[in-house]
Amino acid sequence: MDGNEYIDYVLGQGPHFLGHANPVVNAAVAEASSRGMLFGAQNTLEVEACELMLAALGWADMVRLGMTGTECVQAALRAARAATGRTAFVRFEGHYHGWLDNVLVQTTGEWTGVASRGQLGSHLADCRMLPWNDADALSELLRTSGDTIAAVIMEPMMVNAGGIEPLPGYLQRVRELCDQYGIVLIFDEVITGFRLARGGAVEKYGVVPDLATYGKAMAGGWPVAALAGRADLMEPFGAGSVNHSGTFNGSLMAAAAVVATQRLLIDDSPYERIDAYGRELMAQLAKIGERHDIPLRVQGVPAAFHVSFGDPTPVCDLRTLNTLDLGRYAAFASRLADNGLWLAQRGIWYVSAAHGDAELADTVERIESALAESLP
Ligand code: PMP
Repeated sequence: MDGNEYIDYVLGQGPHFLGHANPVVNAAVAEASSRGMLFGAQNTLEVEACELMLAALGWADMVRLGMTGTECVQAALRAARAATGRTAFVRFEGHYHGWLDNVLVQTTGEWTGVASRGQLGSHLADCRMLPWNDADALSELLRTSGDTIAAVIMEPMMVNAGGIEPLPGYLQRVRELCDQYGIVLIFDEVITGFRLARGGAVEKYGVVPDLATYGKAMAGGWPVAALAGRADLMEPFGAGSVNHSGTFNGSLMAAAAVVATQRLLIDDSPYERIDAYGRELMAQLAKIGERHDIPLRVQGVPAAFHVSFGDPTPVCDLRTLNTLDLGRYAAFASRLADNGLWLAQRGIWYVSAAHGDAELADTVERIESALAESLP
């Protein structure tokens, strides 16, 4: 609007994995919607979209489309409660699972209850909050109240706070504990799905949940999300005994966006390019920190990493993340925005298939000119 031009690492909070306004995806959506948009029934494109998704995921028996990550998380929790007859669920400090009353908490600072005016605190009563990457903490909670817990839900890599990967063996232990207590394990892959790999965090870390939610990168920027999982947990939706309704679920636009995106992820796989770009960008950021003698730290994976100021030792949970100088980074991000880099203030950088050599060189140059003004 003001004539400014940016290199974008926010990517609409993640969905633009293929870059902005991918012409192939957009043409597919336009073509599909020219033939109809909603029928209040299933359509063949929706079936094709779901088959492509199941092939990419590899582990799930069934998948259903929704519009947002928020609602697919709710469907997952509902399915878990229906299957177990229990109501409580375990979640983890720093993880984000949507904006509704029963899941919205502050992702910065310690767990203090509601995060919004108007939010019903009573809706958080079924939530058990634990530190993440601490299997002993989960084991201890389940030892005393495992038979009341319907689900354990987590981002399998905590991208929303700190770009923190699971510690070696952590996801495996969570999986074992869920099996031991008959608890449904839900991976919230709304960010990690189709970004960390085509098969998401499940492919990267090799641990299989019972249910998983997807969104963002799965549909080239269009508003589509999904719930995938084991047949026995998913079938009640189709039978109608567990409700997940939605006027716009599986619209032709949604299905066409998924089909086109999934085909591009196969036919013109961006994963190696994104990995190489992100790796080089992370290395360049580290070098910039050294050159200017500022404690710039980078943590995460090439497709989604976190930048902040502070001790370079990798952090593995929210509490340690909060000991870093996150305020200084937010000020730095504002300065970089003035120099043509579009960044999330909370430190997450997303890389897309549309970033190339020119953007990499420009990014480094723009950071250098921001730092030339004065140190953050
Ligand atoms: N889960 C995770 C892990 C997310 O990052 C988000 C969105 N940032 C959501 C759920 C909610 O998705 P949506 O904004 O599409 O409702």
